Amino acid sequence: MGVCLSILASGSRGNSTLISSSRTRILVDAGVSCRETFKRLKAAGDDPHSLSAILITHEHSDHVYGLAMLAKKLSVPVFMTGATHQSWARALRDENGECPALDRLEVFSSGHSFYIGDVQIAPFTIPHDAADPVGFTFRAEGVKFGIATDLGYLPASVRDHLRGCDVLVIESNHDVEMLRVGPYPWSVKQRVMSRVGHLSNEALAEFFANDYDGGAAYVVLAHLSEQNNHPELARGAAEKALGPRQTLLQNRVLLAAQAEPMQPIRL
Ligand SMILES: [Zn+2]
Ligand SMILES: [Zn+2]
Repeated sequence: MGVCLSILASGSRGNSTLISSSRTRILVDAGVSCRETFKRLKAAGDDPHSLSAILITHEHSDHVYGLAMLAKKLSVPVFMTGATHQSWARALRDENGECPALDRLEVFSSGHSFYIGDVQIAPFTIPHDAADPVGFTFRAEGVKFGIATDLGYLPASVRDHLRGCDVLVIESNHDVEMLRVGPYPWSVKQRVMSRVGHLSNEALAEFFANDYDGGAAYVVLAHLSEQNNHPELARGAAEKALGPRQTLLQNRVLLAAQAEPMQPIRL
């Protein structure tokens, strides 16, 4: 069967990705509704009830919108850091101050790897304006996947974690000029552009040109802004920076979309 990465949704209206080995199936983020997650999993030929666990990067609603309902319906363990869990629960307090409870919460810490089934997961800290945001690498059956979105820049520690990935899912959020002249209020522009905001096409191109090891079979551009980016601008910047390292077998550039799941990547 091998390992598979399937991006169900990507962008500021909801993020969710399925990582699977022959024995384990992990949903990374639950940012679309339970109903839509089920629909997209089924469309990709997956049974939602076969999920092993849900793993959360951070508490922003585009990453947790469907979490409470999914966890309840599927009764699977939910993995997040302690600080992410606290902020998630605080944000969902009802009028009596009651926080939602997760039946099967599993707390992990950034920098400490752990297993879900046969998949080894290494969470690492990313610079983003959330309580305790993380990216992940996943290793199973000799393959390494990396996911890093929602980050203001790429610190050396993140660059290190992303070395040796066979599939690299990385943020290409905005074109700097489109954001600058676009419709967002100045305060929001400042937040997106800040060191704890989102990664631009230009910042990602700088990484590809200067520091990326070039070893991935697939590079997936993710969390594209619908207001401040065009898929072809993001692709063009990435392909130009990757240059001759793009071959038939290496560094094929794919784009994750908001409206529909991406074709699954099987290795
Ligand atoms: Zn996000
Ligand atoms: Zn975020």
